Amino acid sequence: LLEVKGITKSFGHGRRRLTALDGVDVRLERGETLGLVGESGCGKSTLARVVLGLERPDSGTVRFNGTDPFTLKGKELLAWRRRVQMVFQDPFASLNARMSAADLIGEPWRTHRDIVPTAKDRERRVRELLSLVGLRESDAHRYPNEFSGGQRQRIGIARALALDPDLIVCDEPVSALDLSVQAQVLNVLSELRERLGVSYVFISHDLSVVKHVSDRVTVMYLGKVIEHGRTEDVFDRPLHPYTAALMSAAP
Ligand code: ATP
Ligand code: MG
Repeated sequence: LLEVKGITKSFGHGRRRLTALDGVDVRLERGETLGLVGESGCGKSTLARVVLGLERPDSGTVRFNGTDPFTLKGKELLAWRRRVQMVFQDPFASLNARMSAADLIGEPWRTHRDIVPTAKDRERRVRELLSLVGLRESDAHRYPNEFSGGQRQRIGIARALALDPDLIVCDEPVSALDLSVQAQVLNVLSELRERLGVSYVFISHDLSVVKHVSDRVTVMYLGKVIEHGRTEDVFDRPLHPYTAALMSAAP
């Protein structure tokens, strides 16, 4: 589904130049969840933006569904964008507080008009999406500040689902939530995976969460991938000393 090869990306110039990604390779098969871990500043979010086609790398290639987004323009790029969505850490920051849940969930349809063409279809689809993420129909008319953190994250997930994507990149999706609420939101994500076959790139600093949700794990350190493998292997038999240290610090 996703193949990322030799990605490098630097920010700034001269003495302030900083290499955020240094020859990164990542692979993800359809229906799988890839956990992406590593300490703050190692380049996880930058990699996520490259994968989403939002940040052009200095070198390297991204292939998603067989296509490199950075070779596309106009309608083709729009069609590509639809297939990969993002869920952020803090849904409040990414949700416009003046829009109702229904408007927020349906916002992506404004750019992709053909997907749910009539107002009636849109209403029905919003109801379906609310129920998929475990919210009620009556929640459609409430505003972000009237929801709890976990409920807001569910709206963020429903909105990511609005375009029926193949891949959702989750950047610290549960880090801002209480433990019990984290479990609920993780359940929603894993149910969607079962029911709709969504694949995930799951970025988190919380290794117990990553272990729980991922089929494979990629470990990054200072802009490089230092380890990649099946979750059990990486957790039980880490090859790199940094991974070993990271894992031994986990609960
Ligand atoms: P965290 O776990 O804290 O979210 P991260 O692994 O997501 O960290 P990134 O956000 O990818 O890290 O940042 C990697 C490096 O690139 C950091 O040193 C950061 O300061 C730098 N960086 C990221 N985006 C930019 C930008 N737009 N301009 C300049 N530097 C940037
Ligand atoms: Mg980040």
